Amino acid sequence: MCGIVAAAARNNIVPVLLEGLRKLEYRGYDSAGLAILNGGLQRLRSVGRVAELAAQADSTGATSETGSAHTRWASHGVPSERNAHPHISEGLAVVHNGIIENYESLRAELSALGYSFSSETDTETIAHLIHHTLKSEPDLFRAVCRTVQRLQGAYAIAVVKEDEPGRVIVAREGSPLLLGVGEQGNYAASDASALLQVTRRIVYLENGDVAELRPESWRVARADGTPVERPVALSSLSADAVELGRFRHYMQKEIFEQPDALANTLEMVGGAKSLQAGLFGAEAETLLGGATSVLILACGTSSHAGMAARYWLEAVAGIPCTVETASEYRYRESVPQADQLVIAISQSGETADTLAALRHAKALGHHRTLALCNVPESAIVRECALRFITRAGPEIGVASTKAFTTQLAALFLLTLVLAKLKGRLSDTEEAIQLQALRHLPAAIGRALELEPQIKAWAERFAMKQHALFLGRGIHYPIALEGALKLKEISYIHAEAYPAGELK
Ligand code: GLU
Repeated sequence: MCGIVAAAARNNIVPVLLEGLRKLEYRGYDSAGLAILNGGLQRLRSVGRVAELAAQADSTGATSETGSAHTRWASHGVPSERNAHPHISEGLAVVHNGIIENYESLRAELSALGYSFSSETDTETIAHLIHHTLKSEPDLFRAVCRTVQRLQGAYAIAVVKEDEPGRVIVAREGSPLLLGVGEQGNYAASDASALLQVTRRIVYLENGDVAELRPESWRVARADGTPVERPVALSSLSADAVELGRFRHYMQKEIFEQPDALANTLEMVGGAKSLQAGLFGAEAETLLGGATSVLILACGTSSHAGMAARYWLEAVAGIPCTVETASEYRYRESVPQADQLVIAISQSGETADTLAALRHAKALGHHRTLALCNVPESAIVRECALRFITRAGPEIGVASTKAFTTQLAALFLLTLVLAKLKGRLSDTEEAIQLQALRHLPAAIGRALELEPQIKAWAERFAMKQHALFLGRGIHYPIALEGALKLKEISYIHAEAYPAGELK
């Protein structure tokens, strides 16, 4: 989740770190921080926006040639300055995106060794573990290699050490991280957009890679220390999110962006060995674990995603689920159920009826609220206790496509987490489902190869005046969504029926 920028350069990198964080803001975050070396180790943290961190950096006149910066989206410990990254273990600072699954046992082990913890994060264990490893392995690069071998879960990390200016060690497994090879130095970031300000020369790290950045050089090794070659690619990233490229219109482009949108949305599942409630927020285990039923509030396409999720939530997680059109819910009298989880689904996170329905639910006393949106800074995300951000990227086409499929993926992930919290998901089943989710982008890619065939069918259907979409079970909400798409795009009258009703 969220973002990392790190640099070892020959000039002041503070503006680069801050500009990089700004570029990563779209990934969502609740706090930000940076660690820089300038004689000693200086740490700045802010619970607010990156702009506040920048103001702090400005007022302290912070400059440095080595450092790392972070935007956090809390999974362990509430959003607060104390929990904001970097986390420090005596002169050594670590920033981390991801979730360390075995952090409790590591924390117990390190506490027994005399380490004390100043945050509730899983990340602080990494800082202390590297510090402890340095006692027997004084080289920072090798100490990080040894440390990451002990971590289970997903991570992208950047490490700087007070007495090692001009050196940053980074590592990744499951969470994204890449290197930028620049004129003035070498850099790392969660995605290339953060580094275009200094370079287009990008090195994509593989899972399990550890890399060292110095102002004049960089190198990559596997976690066991074996050096590996990673090619330097020239980033073609431009304003491509809003350029049509080879497509005829945005809807077509966005349909074809689904494999990437799904892969980005499921990024945290990529390297994970098990599902973590923390994916939905720091308080997810309590708020989701104690939920006895689910109420989904949404409009249009998002409510179709909710209706599909109802089949999963009841069948897989065994939780009663109601889906209600937001504009109906907000204007009628309903009976609030204690311990019901209220999920507000909206691509933009600003859908007026959904936001009003959420506020209505909260006014009725609901406190277990979860936002499922594509825009992290949106009102719905800000007003919910828990959140999951789909990473569909900007959706310009009026008819929703990739936002819908990423919502489905997120809702399936939620179903699995709830099933796990309710003790209804065996380890074997969990592994099978994680594997299936990882396969999803490729499977969608295969479906998209059918385009020529679909175009041929479209020519036959284009002259019709009415269309019925039929589906049973989970395919019924999909039929509803199909009918909506046809109406929106062609103005051909279309309706969906549960298949059994056609008789
Ligand atoms: N798990 C870490 C935390 O809660 C990192 C969250 C993130 O990816 O920003 O602090």
